[in-house]
Amino acid sequence: MSFDPIRSLAAVQHEFGEHGGVNMSIEASTTFTVMDAKTMPAIFAGAVGPDTGGCYLYGRHFNPTVYVLGRYLAALEGTEAAYCTASGMGAIAGAVFQHVRPGDEIVSARTVYGGTHALFEHFMPERMGVTVRFVDATNTDEVRAAMTSRTKAVYCETVSNPTLTVADIPALAEIAHEREAALIVDNTFSPLIVSPAQLGADVVVHSMTKFISGGSDIIAGAVCGSRDFVTSLMDPHHGSLMLLGPTMHPSAAFDLSLRLPHLGLRMREHSARALLFAERLEGLGVPVWYPGLPGHEGHERLARMMNPGFGMGGIFGIDLGARDAAFEFMDYLQNTHRFGYDAVSLGYFDTLMSCSGASTSSELSEDEQRAAGIRPGFVRISIGYTGDVEDRWAQFEDALKHVGAIPRSAAG
Ligand SMILES: *Cc1c(COP(=O)(O)O)cnc(C)c1O
Repeated sequence: MSFDPIRSLAAVQHEFGEHGGVNMSIEASTTFTVMDAKTMPAIFAGAVGPDTGGCYLYGRHFNPTVYVLGRYLAALEGTEAAYCTASGMGAIAGAVFQHVRPGDEIVSARTVYGGTHALFEHFMPERMGVTVRFVDATNTDEVRAAMTSRTKAVYCETVSNPTLTVADIPALAEIAHEREAALIVDNTFSPLIVSPAQLGADVVVHSMTKFISGGSDIIAGAVCGSRDFVTSLMDPHHGSLMLLGPTMHPSAAFDLSLRLPHLGLRMREHSARALLFAERLEGLGVPVWYPGLPGHEGHERLARMMNPGFGMGGIFGIDLGARDAAFEFMDYLQNTHRFGYDAVSLGYFDTLMSCSGASTSSELSEDEQRAAGIRPGFVRISIGYTGDVEDRWAQFEDALKHVGAIPRSAAG
């Protein structure tokens, strides 16, 4: 029985608006009316909620519109429940904090999003007394050796930012569960492509700011997991999301709900274009990282884990040798060809390019960058799907020639 995220999503994605609209209504209320005052204590204690005979209480707890989007995310990942947050970092912090107490430990992949890395390297040890051990998550022996009786969670990204390392989720789940630790997986780079919860992950987090939104207009996140875990996040006395308060606005939830139905189409096109570019770059001898290439270190692992039909992702990286060449390449594409933007982030309908070492991974020291395989001339490219793909390739090739990455005479 294989999981199909598109079918799973379609099975729940049918919400009428207040007046029979084909889209759900936006419930823009911060507080909700209790029709029978006697029920308030049980609602406030969290004993009854919107699905269990109570009602909505307050917008930082649950909001109906945000709750519906949470149900969609749960369906997409095949988890019992999910809830949405104001940002991906809000989702990550909420999910991780709920697992640890002072003195506990986390084992994390070394190559993770810069903000997550900073949270783990600085904030949590310094402010919370939680030790984070960074490991090469593709080396299961190293992961197992880092586990102790205090390890409460193993953390990784399905496809990691920015070097596109692929985690072996079933193997990591086994290692985590041997120690009764949870496996938390950030699936931001690979929505629909991989379903980590189906492979043993306990919690799946997303920055919905990226592919799920697709518009680079909304900062948003989600935590997907068991019903008990999601309920614990929202507990009025002990819940990280309830008490830290990274609350999603219902308008954002509504906007995002309109983008999930075409997420699959978008992922397919992102992936198709990324593969085409990666194959041609490889043909030209440009150092390129893309898990869709058979020569990529994580290709086999991703092929084993992926759901069919969405390709192997919309992000690839190239090494232009030096930081100056990377800057010139991005400026030239953006300013001469109107090809994409020199901007951080990813998953946008247009191309976003960034020199990782000088931007999203600059939270890592030079040594850490080297250990994580981030070279100075590494440019991460989140390929968009605007414009004709052959026109786009011609522009890209021209920019490669402009910075001397391929000879002027090369024809791709
Ligand atoms: C962007 C990103 C985040 C952080 O998400 P925000 O929505 O910006 O808070 C976390 N993980 C990954 C992999 C990301 O790309």
